[in-house]
Order: sequence, then structure tokens, then C-alpha cells
Amino acid sequence: MTAACEGYLRTVHLSRTFEDKVAVDDLTLDLRRGELFVLLGPSGCGKTTMLRLLAGLESPSKGEVFLDGRPLNGVPPGRRNVAMVFQDHALYPHMRVADNLGFGLRMQRLKKEEIRKRVAEVAGIIGLEDRLGAWPHQLSGGEAQRVALGKALIRRPDVLLLDEPLSNLDAPLRRRLREEILRLQRKSAITTVYVTHDQEEGMALGDRMGILQGGRLLQVGTPRAVYENPGCVFAAEFLGSPSINLIPAELLLGRDRLRWPMGAETQFIERIPRDASGSVWIGIRPEDVLVSMRSKSPPEYVGRIEFIQDMGFESHLVVSCGGLSLRARCAHLPEGMREGVPAYLKLRAERMLLFRRDTGERVLADAGETDAG
Ligand code: ATP
Repeated sequence: MTAACEGYLRTVHLSRTFEDKVAVDDLTLDLRRGELFVLLGPSGCGKTTMLRLLAGLESPSKGEVFLDGRPLNGVPPGRRNVAMVFQDHALYPHMRVADNLGFGLRMQRLKKEEIRKRVAEVAGIIGLEDRLGAWPHQLSGGEAQRVALGKALIRRPDVLLLDEPLSNLDAPLRRRLREEILRLQRKSAITTVYVTHDQEEGMALGDRMGILQGGRLLQVGTPRAVYENPGCVFAAEFLGSPSINLIPAELLLGRDRLRWPMGAETQFIERIPRDASGSVWIGIRPEDVLVSMRSKSPPEYVGRIEFIQDMGFESHLVVSCGGLSLRARCAHLPEGMREGVPAYLKLRAERMLLFRRDTGERVLADAGETDAG
């Protein structure tokens, strides 16, 4: 039981199987009190099932959940003080905003005065003080989603679970509400688990994040730590846009050297384990591929600009080189750079990541610990 006290919200070897489908697989996770933790992964990786296990809407096939040291297994959802907001928020259409917000408290038979006070307080937090008299059909999508959040917050839950709450909204509204959720979470300091498949959203919101694939938790850390130091090729590819370049290469046994398509043999970093060899991916982020129109000091490669996407605030380039197409990102497009022209490439060797091609795992011995938050 002592292990249960380490985190505020803690899962220990938690699994959920549906017939022969393992939706959540042996998941051990520690959440800190007051943090906004993002569970990030593709469709079907077990995010919703994980939230439902935390809420008590689903029973674990194996493992346990603890809140502040108390075991939650067997505690029904209504007695957990855990609130969940889904992507399809449901407001009662025949109730004004104030009544929608106060509904849960009326069910708990709180005094009218107390309900009025808490509705006013929560309306302030979600910024809808002047919309308390509106009907749901009079609300914009963003306002309705804020009411749904308010309905969860008014219960003063110990834990708030958000299941892709912004996925039905258009992009500008999503970005605005993302900021509001951050502000709201900081203000309320409620321990929050936020589920999304959108890496940009996850990176923007999470104090820390966990990457899920096929029900398994691959890596936990701050967004920056996971981005800079991914433990496997899946995490490396899932984070970042444009996505990381993966260059096939051969690691030559015991010589800390790489043979790869663009150069004959290249000295890599010293920390490659002595016994490592075989086929690898060199992972390099687009911002670490430096493209110029003039030749500078080596190591350098000559390529050709395939595409330029001018995003306004930065440019994304695709450069062909040694039979590869490499993605690069640059803040300012150099003078004379256009599609079809030759260009010089420099790869920041100190930022290269190495992954085994057979398992996808990082080759470096110290790749595992990224929980730098
Ligand atoms: P999405 O982002 O698409 O909502 P998700 O990451 O939330 O996906 P889950 O909904 O948790 O994933 O589903 C994980 C896996 O478990 C999926 O393969 C899904 O089909 C399966 N699954 C979930 N709930 C059930 C259920 N009640 N019965 C059978 N299989 C289920």
C-alpha cells in the first residue's frame, strides 16, 4: 500500500480487456496533484478506456487505481469525486445556462443560496457571467463547451477528466479554448487528465504527457523532454510538425560510426553502446536540417529544393539529397531559394537520434529517462 501514496492519482499495472482486445495494457502512471497531464495517442490506443477506468465507468480486468493514497477499485463513479467531460457535451436544452450549471448541485440537494453562489463563482471562471440567462441553442459552440466544463467544475472535483473536449470545434476556436482551458486549470488547480490525438494540442497544454500506443504507455515526460529525447521511433514521429526525418543507416559494430546514404562513413556520437550494430534510423528534426544557398564548412551535402511551403511565420522545405527527401524548417527563406534550385545541407550531428530499425527503440543507453518535469 505504501507505493500507492507516491502519486496523487496513481494507476498500478492497470489493464482492461474486451473479449480478446487489450484496450489498456499494464499501465502504471503517477499523476501529481494539480498538474495537467495529457494522454496522447492515435485513434484506438486506449485513451477513452483509460479515462473511463479512472472515472469508474469501466472496471479494470487487472490492476488498481489510487486517489491520494485511497484505493478506488470498487468505488462507484458517483462516490469518486471525479468529473468527466466528453467531446459531445450534453446540455439540457430546456434549461438556461445557470440551471444547466447548477443541475448537479440540485441533485445533491444543496441549499438554493449555496447553488447560486457556486453558479456565480463558476460562471466567473468560465467567463460566462453575462450568459447565465441564455438557452443552450443561443450559445456558440465554444460557449456551450465552456458550460460543459463549468458543469464539471462546479462539483469541485478532485480530478477532472477531459476526453477530446475541443475536437468538434473549428481551428481558431479550438486554439482560443485551449488557452482558456489552461487558464481555467491553473486557476482551479484541479488535477486534470486531458486526452487527445492531436500532438500540437497535447504539447501546448500538458505540464507532462504520456504517449500511448496499442494500450501501452510508451513514455512520460514534459512535452519538451519527450520531443527532444523520444524513447522510441513512434514517439519521435508522433510529436512535431513537419515530422522528424528518418534516414536509414548502418551502424558499424564497435566503431561509433555510421554508414548512411548521404555520406560514406560518419563519426556519430561517442555514447553508442559498444555492442550496438545493425540497421538503424537516424532521426533528425526539420529544424536541425540547415539549408543554405552557399557552401559552408563540412559535414555538408548538396541537394535540390523539391518543395517550399511558405507558412508566413516560417517556411517548410523538402530537399532531395542522396536519394532521400528531407524535411527542413527555416524561419526566413534565404534569398534566391526556390523550387528546383541546388542547395547545401548541414545536419546538426549533436541533435541526431538513433533508433533500431527492427524494434524502433532508441540506441543510446541513456534514452529511457525523460521524466524531466
Ligand atoms: P479514439 O481516439 O478513436 O476515441 P481511443 O484511443 O479513445 O480511440 P478507446 O476508445 O479507448 O481508444 O478504445 C481502445 C480499443 O478498445 C479499441 O480497439 C476499441 O475498439 C476497443 N474498445 C473500447 N471499448 C470497447 C468495448 N466496450 N467493447 C469492445 N471493444 C472496445
